[in-house]
Amino acid sequence: PTVPETLTRTTRKYLDREAIVYPRKNIRWTYEEFDERVTRFANALREAGVEKGDRVSLLMHNSAEFAVAVFGLLRAGAVFNPINYRLAPGEVAYILNDSASTVLLFEEVTRDTVEGALDQFDTVDRYLYVDDDVEATPKYAEGFHSAVANASTAPIEIDVKSEDQYAIMYTSGTTGRPKGVVHSHRDATYHNLMYLGRMDLDYEDVGVSAMPLYHNAELNCGLFPRVNLGAKTVVLHQFDAERVLEAVDNERATHLFVASRTWSELLAAAETMDDFDGGSLGLGVYGAAPMPPTLLERCMEVFCEDYATAYGMTEMGPCATFIRPDEVRDQLGSVGRAAPNHEVRIVEPTETECPADPVTPRDTVPQGDTGEIILQGPPMMSEYWNRPEKTGNAIRDGWFFTGDAGYFNEDGYLFLVDRIDDMIISGGENIYPTEIENVLYEHDAVEAAAVIGEEDDEWGERVVAYVVGDEDLDADTLDAFCRDHDGLADFKRPREYYVIEELPRNPSGKIQKFKLRESDADTAT
Ligand code: ATP
Ligand code: MG
Repeated sequence: PTVPETLTRTTRKYLDREAIVYPRKNIRWTYEEFDERVTRFANALREAGVEKGDRVSLLMHNSAEFAVAVFGLLRAGAVFNPINYRLAPGEVAYILNDSASTVLLFEEVTRDTVEGALDQFDTVDRYLYVDDDVEATPKYAEGFHSAVANASTAPIEIDVKSEDQYAIMYTSGTTGRPKGVVHSHRDATYHNLMYLGRMDLDYEDVGVSAMPLYHNAELNCGLFPRVNLGAKTVVLHQFDAERVLEAVDNERATHLFVASRTWSELLAAAETMDDFDGGSLGLGVYGAAPMPPTLLERCMEVFCEDYATAYGMTEMGPCATFIRPDEVRDQLGSVGRAAPNHEVRIVEPTETECPADPVTPRDTVPQGDTGEIILQGPPMMSEYWNRPEKTGNAIRDGWFFTGDAGYFNEDGYLFLVDRIDDMIISGGENIYPTEIENVLYEHDAVEAAAVIGEEDDEWGERVVAYVVGDEDLDADTLDAFCRDHDGLADFKRPREYYVIEELPRNPSGKIQKFKLRESDADTAT
């Protein structure tokens, strides 16, 4: 019989090797010990009535229990729904109801969030409290640890197929309300094999999961591929630069993924720790946001020589392009080339959604021109849960329309420019805000800048800049600076400037321009 490509099994090959290390609780589980807990939790869910296809949600920080919970619920045939623990109660209610989750795992730290919206959860009928050894479990919940301890270790056989749904994962909400992305078991197993190959990882490798496991990136570029392979994962409760470096040293980590901006925190921590060695580290991985070249060069001096990155999104599972360590230096700033069996095209951008004609692919732009990045690849999502119009708009003729703008350089490497929705059309010209923001960043008094288009009777849209900076920074100074700058065509020059206290950001730090567009400019100072 053929073995289905699913995430329901952990490796059987390396039972005596360490699988999960969780320094916060002094946990070290071999694959055999981890696997037994996974089976117990799967049985606990089955005994509680969870059936194939039921949704189980996790509202928790990284932990050894997180790893048991996700593999356990998958083994029980359930569908995994991770939720960002920083979301507000109402946002959590939206996701639980939208995904129709019946089981919710939460912890001491997220208890207030849960209790803040308990009466709005329409579908959850079972609550599991993960910190039952720390504090009394709330009345409406059961203890996770006792559920695991009391459950059977009998092997569990559920007919989970490759094409069955394995997860609904909500996007980051940078451009609006998070969308539930539906992925199959095959999407994840395909993606993870590809990731292991591109990053050249082996079962002897050791990785640190320091980025949140509720996000696709840490799951499918960290925990899942390592567990499938039989490699070791050091789980950190949450990102803390010193703890990350300690874990790298103590566990002799060979590779480390953290989001691009976060590498600067590691650099700062490395400077203050006089006993940091880091000699085991062979590969640094960055992603999720642009990596400033100067930061990358500093990391190469301090941590290790080799770095790699990927570009993608929740919808693609997530990685759709990769750049190899030996290419990074020659192609600074690039996100690489198409992943194996993937295709990347750059097409004529259109500013608005076009559901009226959803299947016509647009023209490919000439090499070097900026346009919308569209992608194809085996791990692509099947749909946005409950959002047929959004699905029809995002997937056309088998291509995923990313909403990101980018271009290929003459060597065929992909560079990201902006999000299409952020593109400004003024007097018939396409204007990419990043270009203008980069000019503003050159001014010493500017800390952060976001450029958007605002409606204009004459030009369609006019360029408006929101800037965070020094106290004495004002619109006239910025205007004079941009007028004098020889890298900025006159039609791109902002027509208005607002110096504000801070820019709206999502929980991962990405600037939410839709909030700037919504807010009334008159309220800014
Ligand atoms: P939403 O879709 O809800 O608005 P989001 O698009 O931010 O949120 P994610 O799927 O977490 O949600 O993020 C994907 C986006 O992150 C990509 O579309 C791209 O804009 C950005 N991104 C991903 N990888 C990189 C990278 N290597 N460099 C720069 N930006 C990246
Ligand atoms: Mg997105």
